[in-house]
Amino acid sequence: MPSSGGAFWQRKRLDEMSPAEWEALCDGCGRCCVHKLEDEDSGEYFETRVACRLLEPGTYLCSDYANRHAHVPDCVTLTPELVASSQWLPVTCAYRRLAEGRGLAWWHPLVSGDPATVHSAGVSIQNHTISEDQLSDPDELLDHVIAWGDSPSGA
Ligand code: SF4
Repeated sequence: MPSSGGAFWQRKRLDEMSPAEWEALCDGCGRCCVHKLEDEDSGEYFETRVACRLLEPGTYLCSDYANRHAHVPDCVTLTPELVASSQWLPVTCAYRRLAEGRGLAWWHPLVSGDPATVHSAGVSIQNHTISEDQLSDPDELLDHVIAWGDSPSGA
């Protein structure tokens, strides 16, 4: 239940946030920008270290966020409804954390005041990815399944 005091992410539900507030919630971890594989039988998701070709090395941000759908038509636009039903989002994702009532973690730039803390906390894709352009066959994704750190101290 939203409260009357505190920062916007503490007093507003996801579906009450302005577009600017919504965008500010992304912690820049980049984990929604790596390819995932789904086990058709169990429904379980596996993350790979293969990143979208638009992901910018160094910043781990989309290199053309405003026009990303022109390059990657199936890039997902997160909405409150989608967050509530998206098991592929990492448990560290700020949207998922708020949807599950867990608040923002200490490493979130809105909390720490430093965009680098998402990397120093070990929850981002920093130094772990290769670009999808480096694959010669989509089946090679299977060779790049990786387990990211989901439970840094303070999670
Ligand atoms: S997983 Fe969530 S917090 Fe991380 S980059 Fe994607 S939307 Fe932002």
